[in-house]
Amino acid sequence: MDSKYVVIIQCDIAHRRCSGFQCTSAFYNREEKFKDYDDVRYISFTCGGCCGKAISAKLEHFSKKLNRKCKGDIDKDKVAIHLASCMTTDNHHYDRCPHIDYIKKIILKKGYRNLIEGSYISKNSELKRQRGVYVSY
Ligand code: SF4
Repeated sequence: MDSKYVVIIQCDIAHRRCSGFQCTSAFYNREEKFKDYDDVRYISFTCGGCCGKAISAKLEHFSKKLNRKCKGDIDKDKVAIHLASCMTTDNHHYDRCPHIDYIKKIILKKGYRNLIEGSYISKNSELKRQRGVYVSY
C-alpha cells in the first residue's frame, strides 16, 4: 500500500472505557487490517461524540497540520482512514455506529478517499459474528 499516514477514528463512547491499546498494537504489529502498510505515520482520535459532527473540525485541523508540518510531502490520497472496529462492528459492548454513513460522508467531503472499515479484529467477537450471536454488517 502506498499510504504514508494512517488515521484511526475511534467511537467516542467506546473511548471512555477503551485506551485503544489493541488497535495500536494491531497497527504496530501490522496485523489484520494493517498488514499491508510499510513505513507509515500513525495517529488516532475519536469521532468527538454522537452524531459524529465534530469529525469535520478534527479533520480540518489534521489537514492543516499535515500540509504545514509535512511540507506538502503527504497529500490526502496518501492518508488511509480506518474507522475503528468499535465503530463498525457489533460486539460485546456496542452495536455498529448508527451515524456511520453520515461520518463517512464528512470524511469524503473533506477529501479523504481511502476509507477502510475496521482496525483490531477480536477473534472472539469474530467467532460470535460467524455464529450469529452478534450481527455481521
Ligand atoms: S457517532 Fe457513532 S462512533 Fe461517534 S460516539 Fe456516536 S456511536 Fe460512537
